[in-house]
Formats: sequence, C-alpha cells, structure tokens
Amino acid sequence: MITGKTKLLGVIGHPIEHSLSPLMHNAALTDLGLDYVYLPLPVEPKNLAKAVAGFAVIGVQGFNITIPHKQAIIPLLSTVSTIAEAVGAVNTVWWTEQGWSGTNTDVAGFLAPLNELERDWSQTETIILGSGGAARAVVAGCTQLGCAGVRVVGRDREKLQQFQQRWNNSTLPVHLQTHGWDELPPLLPKAGLVVNTTPIGMHPQVEQSPLAPELMDCLQPGAIAYDLIYTPNPTRFLQQASERGMVTIDGLEMLVQQGAAALEIWLQQPVPVDVMRRSLQQHLFRHQ
Ligand code: NAP
Repeated sequence: MITGKTKLLGVIGHPIEHSLSPLMHNAALTDLGLDYVYLPLPVEPKNLAKAVAGFAVIGVQGFNITIPHKQAIIPLLSTVSTIAEAVGAVNTVWWTEQGWSGTNTDVAGFLAPLNELERDWSQTETIILGSGGAARAVVAGCTQLGCAGVRVVGRDREKLQQFQQRWNNSTLPVHLQTHGWDELPPLLPKAGLVVNTTPIGMHPQVEQSPLAPELMDCLQPGAIAYDLIYTPNPTRFLQQASERGMVTIDGLEMLVQQGAAALEIWLQQPVPVDVMRRSLQQHLFRHQ
C-alpha cells in the first residue's frame, strides 16, 4: 500500500510508457516487503533539468534514465562513476549529500551472462554489429573482459569515425577497429563473440536478422551469439546461431541484470534477481 512514507524510485524517458522497468523493480520491492514504489516518469528533453531538480525537492531516492536522456543527464550530476564517464552515458542516479550521483549499470548487465561462462577472453575476437548507444556499453564491457580484439560494424562511415574517436581520451584501454558491413565475411570465421546491438530482428520485424544465412555459415560452431534484443525471444539471429551449434545469449538477462545492479545501489542490499527475471518473462510470454 502506498502511504505518505513510501519511498520513491522511478525511470525517466521520453517516451516512457513501454518501459518494462517498473514491472521488474516493483516485483522485487514487493518480494522484499519494502515500502518503496518505482514509477514511470515521462520527462520531455526540454524539462530534464527542472524534473531532476524537482526530484531532489520531493525526496526521490534514485531513478533510471533511458532514451533520450542518458547523455544529457551528465552535466546535472555532482559525481559520475568512471565506467559511466568512459561509456559517456548514465542510466542510474541516486541522491547523496552532495547532490545526484550517476553510474552506468548497462555494462554490468551486458557482462553478467558472459561472466557466467567463466571463460578466458584474452583470445576472443569480438564483433559488435551497430554503433549506437548500446554498442558503447558493449565496447566498455568487452574491454573490461579483456577481449583480444573489438571490431565495430556500422553502415555510416562518418558515425563510425566519431564512435572510434570518442574512445581516444577514455580512461578505459579501448582498442577497437571499425568496419563497414561489406568487410564482414573474412572477419566472421575468427570471431568468438558476435553481439547484435542493432534493432534488426526486433518485434515486429521478427523475420529479419542482422546476418544473412550465408554470413551465419561463416561463424564457428563454438562462437557466442549475443543479441541485445529481448523481444522476440529468441530472435531470428539467435535461432540461426543455435541451429549452427553456437552458444546463444538473449537481451533479457542484460535488462534484468542492469536493473538488479541499479536496485542494489538504491537499497544497499542484495535483490531478488530471479523475481525480476520471472516478472519480465511472464509479461513477455503473455505479450509475444
Ligand atoms: P541506437 O542508439 O539507435 O543504435 C542502433 C544502431 O543500430 C545504430 O548504429 C544504427 O545505425 C544501427 N542500425 C539500425 N538499423 C539498422 C539497419 N537496418 N542496418 C544496419 N544498422 C542499423 O539504439 P541503442 O539504444 O543502441 O539500442 C539498440 C538495440 O539494443 C535495441 O534493439 C535496443 O532494444 C537494444 N538494447 C537492449 C538492452 C538490454 O538491456 N537488453 C539495452 C540497450 C539496448 P545508424 O547509426 O547508422 O542509424
């Protein structure tokens, strides 16, 4: 029951109505029996500074940030973690005596299912398909893993160049090469990890895949195919990968784990990751 003492958490974005974060966070908060509520908070870009100042006034404990505010929030924070600075985006904010502090839990979310595999990544060549916001967290994650080489594939040479340049002054030792899609065929047989960070194959374009069947045939059977998309589950890309004996990882675990990492920051205690995962699985099953 919500009372005058209920503590406030939430997610800001524009639009925000399709966010699944309220579902998984409220499921965890209910499971823990805590007097908190997590709300979807629609904030237009022009109102970001006013909204964030208002959250401090009404005692919001912390909040997530989604598109389009992940970069714009940074100047409004008193401290930003090293990983968020490296990625250039903040998705989790909490209140401190000095003001709002921010970090990026997408990197930890991306890494969680890879760490479960308990591999030595130092020989793993990685190919990242797409060079948008999520690709930045993936590059940081692969660098933290210690992958042998990180190649980012994009369709716009200018954007690829900008993507590469922004790592030049990074605190992370990022060594990446960028490629056009036409350069993929000779790179695929050497790849141990292929990550789709494009929206190709996302609902409702469920028949699409970022890699045509003949390109999928170039991949090694033991390689890992990781799709950040979580609906449909599995995507066409992951279906094709498992048909070829590859290890597959879907985007749901990243979504769950970035949320769990944020909730742990706000609550300063372990959180029921399985409850968060199940709430999303049940919702996606009903709506797929
Ligand atoms: P974004 O910033 O818009 O980046 C999308 C990237 O995909 C861009 O590089 C874009 O290229 C490329 N792209 C889009 N359509 C393409 C096409 N038809 N052919 C080739 N390249 C194409 O989006 P984002 O925030 O990075 O998100 C990307 C995906 O990751 C979405 O599906 C999102 O749902 C998913 N995601 C999942 C999680 C999770 O927790 N599981 C977290 C974040 C994101 P251009 O720059 O040339 O347009």
